[in-house]
Formats: sequence, C-alpha cells, structure tokens
Amino acid sequence: MKQNLHTHCRFCDGKDTIEDLARTAIDKGFDSLGFSSHGYAHPLDTCSLDDEREAAYIYSVMEARIRYKDRLKIWLGIEEDLTGRIYADPAFDYVIASCHFIPTPSGEWKPVDYSPEKAREILEEDFGGDFLAYARAYYREVKKIAARPEADIVGHLDLLMKYNEQEAMHPFADPEYLALAQEAIDMLIASGKIFEINTGAMPRGYRSEPYPHAILLQYIHDHGGKVCITSDCHARQNLDCGFDIARARARAAGFDEVMVLTDNGFEPESLWD
Ligand SMILES: [Zn+2]
Ligand SMILES: [Zn+2]
Repeated sequence: MKQNLHTHCRFCDGKDTIEDLARTAIDKGFDSLGFSSHGYAHPLDTCSLDDEREAAYIYSVMEARIRYKDRLKIWLGIEEDLTGRIYADPAFDYVIASCHFIPTPSGEWKPVDYSPEKAREILEEDFGGDFLAYARAYYREVKKIAARPEADIVGHLDLLMKYNEQEAMHPFADPEYLALAQEAIDMLIASGKIFEINTGAMPRGYRSEPYPHAILLQYIHDHGGKVCITSDCHARQNLDCGFDIARARARAAGFDEVMVLTDNGFEPESLWD
C-alpha cells in the first residue's frame, strides 16, 4: 500500500491545496493519503491552525474524502505540538505528536527546527554551547508523548538534528547523546507508539537521510518498536520523496514490516512485497 500520513497543506505551512495534493497522490499511485496540519499551538507556532482554520481544515478534508472516494482513501489526521492543543476528538483518524519547541534555561520556549542560524543561536546563547543540555531539554519533551493516549505516531523523533548534516552541531554516535534518545525511545515503545521514518528534511536539502538517525532506528528495531514511513510533505512534488531510501533503511535495520493505517486501524504491512 502506498500511503503518506504526514502531509501539510495551505491550512498551515504547506504550499498546496488539499485538492492539489489529492490529485498528485492519485498521479503518483498512492492508495491513501492522510492530512496532518499543525494543530493549534498559538502563540508559539503562528503557522498552526487557529479555531477558524481548524474548522475549515476538517471540513475541506471531509469534502475531499467524499470527492475522491473511488480513487484515493483520504484520512483526517493532525500533527499536534506538545505545547499546543490535545486532539483527543474521535473525528481525527490519527494523531502525530511532535516536539518543535523546547524550554530554554531562562524559561523561554524556542523552536529547534526554525533555521540553522536559530538552532545555533539557541545552542550557543541559551545552552552555553552544551549540546547535551540542549538534547536533554529536547528529549525531556519528547518523552511526554508516551503519556499522551491520543498520540498514535511520534513525529520526527530526532528533529533537533535537522541541521546536523556533516555533524555540524554534534556527533550522531556520541554515546551520551544516544543514551538520552534511547531513554525516550524505551518509554515510547512501552506506550505502544509508532515511530516515523520521516524524509521531510531531504527535499529541503537539510538532510541526506531520514529521521531518525540509523543508530536510533536500529535501536527501535532491536527493542521491538514499530515504524511507519512518511514524507512530512510541504509541497506536492515531495509527497513520496525518499520513500525508497526510507524502505531501504527500515530493511537494513531489520524491519520486515511497516505500520499503515487501514479501516481497522494501524496494521503491519510487509516491506518485502
Ligand atoms: Zn513537525
Ligand atoms: Zn510536519
């Protein structure tokens, strides 16, 4: 089954309409497409849905679901930020829970994925250049997803490494860093969450590999975690960007299956067909 559950449209920071994304999905041979606008997280995330746009978003996805029902299965999802609204409403078919903001030592919340310059500034000025302190603040937030019953999927597990291509900020394989991430992974596996293999930073040129890093993906596999493949799409041409690489990385880590959303909820699907 060809599916993407992490899709942004014009209701938040995506470039295309629901209509254009649905048509592109059909052209690219998708069986199903899930929309996942950024849930209400004002004032920190000004791109996120407000009450008015949230209602219009739900309506528009439902409308597309009916219009394309013979050609494409459309799911209504949401990407909730840990600082924002909790989407326990059963109207949503699934919830991706993500950490985009962390509290700095001064108590101010700042984004980890805004720009390379901003990430560098937070690391240097707020955390005094101590990458492990920065990572500790990040994974302390990510762990909270384990206690969120509405969350099905953990969004881009190691988003704080978005600007770490060529290890510009920190070595990926530092054992002290890995321990922080692994502690979060243990809690998320115990609570049954699905991890994304997320290719979103690849078309934007920030990363040559999907999230999470191969070492963490291996750890997720070795500890019985489940994964799904998503493109975190913000522009329709990238709807299936990097899917081949993501499948190859999943297989290399030892996975035989990925999770897909079906009428019966999330189910495993073989990676070897
Ligand atoms: Zn996100
Ligand atoms: Zn996203």
